[in-house]
Amino acid sequence: MTSQTPSDCLFCKIVAGEIPSDRVAETERSVAFRDISPAAPIHVLVVPRRHESTVGALAASSGDDLTDVFRLASQVAEQEGVADAHRMIVNTGSKAGQTIFHAHVHLLAGAAFTEGRM
Ligand code: ADP
Repeated sequence: MTSQTPSDCLFCKIVAGEIPSDRVAETERSVAFRDISPAAPIHVLVVPRRHESTVGALAASSGDDLTDVFRLASQVAEQEGVADAHRMIVNTGSKAGQTIFHAHVHLLAGAAFTEGRM
């Protein structure tokens, strides 16, 4: 876990504008952009500008950054017209499906969600 910006982090490069993304909103602390491989009609990733590898590490290092990420995710849900019908998902660790080790929240909506555990 590090708060430094690793030179090989894809999301750090997206935050810095070195790699293009479809940015939908941003704050001083966080950036929201569309997932390149959407799993639902609306699939936005919200990431802190400051590098932390997981949401848990972000929570431990900065409650303000953590709050801002979720606040921005809620704002995007509002913008997209799905304030009352969306999911926010966080994968932590490769065994749970995390592939990019820069903390991020998936905002998913626009699909009929089935009742169930996930
Ligand atoms: P998973 O791949 O299992 O969803 P993560 O929770 O780590 O794992 O999510 C990483 C997400 O980043 C994926 O949904 C993936 O489609 C997305 N992604 C990868 N590269 C880009 C990119 N260049 N721009 C936008 N989204 C990206």
